[in-house]
Amino acid sequence: MIIVMRHDATPAQVRAVVEQVESHGFKTHMSSGEERTVIGVIGVNPVALRDLFEEAPGVANVVPISKPFKLSNREFRPRNTKVTVGTREVGGDGLWIVAGPCSVESEAVFLETARQVRDAGAHALRGGAFKPRTSPYTFQGLRHDGLRILAQARKETGLPVVAEVLTPADIEAVGEVADVLQIGARNMQNFALLSEVGRTRIPVLLKRGMSATIEEWLLSAEYVLSQGNYDVILCERGIRTFETYTRNTLDLNAVPLVRELSHLPVIVDPSHGTGRRSLVAPMAMAGIAAGAHGLMIEVHPHPEAALSDGAQSLTPEDFRNLMQAVRTIAQTLGTKL
Ligand code: PEP
Ligand code: MN
Repeated sequence: MIIVMRHDATPAQVRAVVEQVESHGFKTHMSSGEERTVIGVIGVNPVALRDLFEEAPGVANVVPISKPFKLSNREFRPRNTKVTVGTREVGGDGLWIVAGPCSVESEAVFLETARQVRDAGAHALRGGAFKPRTSPYTFQGLRHDGLRILAQARKETGLPVVAEVLTPADIEAVGEVADVLQIGARNMQNFALLSEVGRTRIPVLLKRGMSATIEEWLLSAEYVLSQGNYDVILCERGIRTFETYTRNTLDLNAVPLVRELSHLPVIVDPSHGTGRRSLVAPMAMAGIAAGAHGLMIEVHPHPEAALSDGAQSLTPEDFRNLMQAVRTIAQTLGTKL
């Protein structure tokens, strides 16, 4: 439920409503726009007390939110959320392009890739130090050594870093080097992890689970938001379907739909979304055309030798070409790159 305050409500009236709501055991979340203040009321069945709140001084109206996701709902915050990462605003006017290898494999390879993607125009680096692998017998990441390499690349290139966090116990160490904590598809419904990253104030990149509905995905975002961390970037990375020629089916419906339903920024990962290098650029362009706020692209200088996801990794040269194509689309759409 949201309580919309009158545009001339005084700060004291807003405070009084918040106190009244909280005295009934509900939590409040504020959204202070230029024209109006909205108080989100979170808890079990707040609508039962609707009449009471409607009469409070300064209240314009009280609106139940019928969808189960509340704080991520556009009804709560009509304007797009902008998440600041380094010097960029994700969800603002410009696109946000994140690139790098699937995993941090060695200092030399990571630094080389980092410089190349920066020179091609990427805004952030990606690279997993802790990898969520389907098989326990495949490369699991360099772990703390990987974090050290990420920190070095961040310093050398000046680019912010996106890195995955697998468990609550890793948040502190990953958070020391990462500007954005990635929650991978396999952990999208790890509710303990979501709540814990929600207690940090580090931006979170929340990938869609491979079998998750859009509503489940937004409810996962809700776990982060409800702990007070509003800096959530959604990432469509493909879902499982009957198709076997591609690794996943990139659900581009999700992009405009999420933009309708939610104020959170949404980016597209065509690397995991297709699993095939040749499909990455076309689907990246389609994602931007569909309204994505950015892209996450896997890039490796020697994809054939990559320790994970080589088949879907672009070479730095492919990435440079993709950036050119994205620039053209961005211009056509009137978006900045
Ligand atoms: C990744 O980004 O390398 C990754 C493991 O992605 P996902 O969680 O989408 O499979
Ligand atoms: Mn990967």
